[in-house]
Amino acid sequence: MKVKVDQALCQGHTLCAMKAPDVFELDDVDGHSSPVSPEVPAGLESQVVSAVRSCPERAISVEGTA
Ligand code: SF4
Repeated sequence: MKVKVDQALCQGHTLCAMKAPDVFELDDVDGHSSPVSPEVPAGLESQVVSAVRSCPERAISVEGTA
């Protein structure tokens, strides 16, 4: 599974990082989220799906399945 965050949509709500703390990192300056790696580590897919659902801006997109 691959994951991306659309920086134009992300508003830095941090919800994704609370759902999947090992997958998303937040920028120190603007708080925007980005994936630590575009490839989701094995075992963290369900956290990423939860993060996608929690993002109010629909900024997170995923490709492929677990
Ligand atoms: S939940 Fe969505 S809007 Fe908030 S930081 Fe994560 S990607 Fe950005």
